Amino acid sequence: MSNNQDKPIYVFKGEALANYGFGDDHPFGLDRHDAFQVELAEAGLGDSIRYADTRRATVDELSLFHSADYIDFISKRSAEGTGFLDGGDTPAYPGIFETASDVAGTTLAAVDAVMNGDTTRAFSPIAGLHHAGREHAAGFCVFNDCGIAIEYLRKEYGLSRIAYVDIDAHHGDGVFYGFEDDPDLIFADLHEDGRFLYPGTGAVDETGTGAAAGTKLNIPMPPGAGDEEFDEAWQLVEAYIDNAEPEFIILQCGADSLEGDPITHLCYSEEAHALAARRLCKLADRHCGGRIVGTGGGGYNRRNLARAWTRVVQSFAEAQ
Ligand SMILES: [Zn+2]
Repeated sequence: MSNNQDKPIYVFKGEALANYGFGDDHPFGLDRHDAFQVELAEAGLGDSIRYADTRRATVDELSLFHSADYIDFISKRSAEGTGFLDGGDTPAYPGIFETASDVAGTTLAAVDAVMNGDTTRAFSPIAGLHHAGREHAAGFCVFNDCGIAIEYLRKEYGLSRIAYVDIDAHHGDGVFYGFEDDPDLIFADLHEDGRFLYPGTGAVDETGTGAAAGTKLNIPMPPGAGDEEFDEAWQLVEAYIDNAEPEFIILQCGADSLEGDPITHLCYSEEAHALAARRLCKLADRHCGGRIVGTGGGGYNRRNLARAWTRVVQSFAEAQ
């Protein structure tokens, strides 16, 4: 069991996070942060949560996952403030380097809060930018805060067995391919079948390469899958994580897997997210002193993201 059961859940909040987005006409707009924070405040969790401040990642921290050339490319595009960072999904805007660094740094602040023992569970809503690769932007994602956090946990805290669990509708390709041949990155991803949804990857036979062959879990879900299908598939994730005995868990809880998202076709309710959070807290208590960080990920229906992420934070609090 956790040694920190009386400590509040850290929830990261602030303008720096709210400012990561691509304008009002883009699915990843600037109103996502506040949509969640209003819902969370209304949930009345009181002293069981504590708001924490954002911080900006340094270039050295970004370099833990990304190449120097890529970081330099984003810096230049940010200064120019026009054009796209990828094939057309992720536009540049003035200052995108800084706001993307704020997202990444805040996920590292969540990791620090947990590793320092200030809390056992922490959540950052504007985070989980799982499509960014080591050398490229993709799918609204510039810097891959989860990938950076995994490398950071290894370098700063000497951990090796880190579990990454992703229930966003989209495959977490940036994390998967970033660690595809790394047997120590415990990876489980439930996502809409790539034959029907961006980015098209994450087939069931993608289990890792080289020394990591057979060690990773990709579970494609059929379009229209709901809570029943999620619960069934979740049993595989749970058994896999339990068996892998991680030292730290990162949950990417994208809310675009809920029914009514404008760009995907999965039909979970927010109870899928509550279930994942609750069960992962139990596994975290069993294997890693309760340590878990939740990252918001995708979600383009504001009501859905507000409810799903609030249920994740509630589940973290109830598990204390
Ligand atoms: Zn997504």
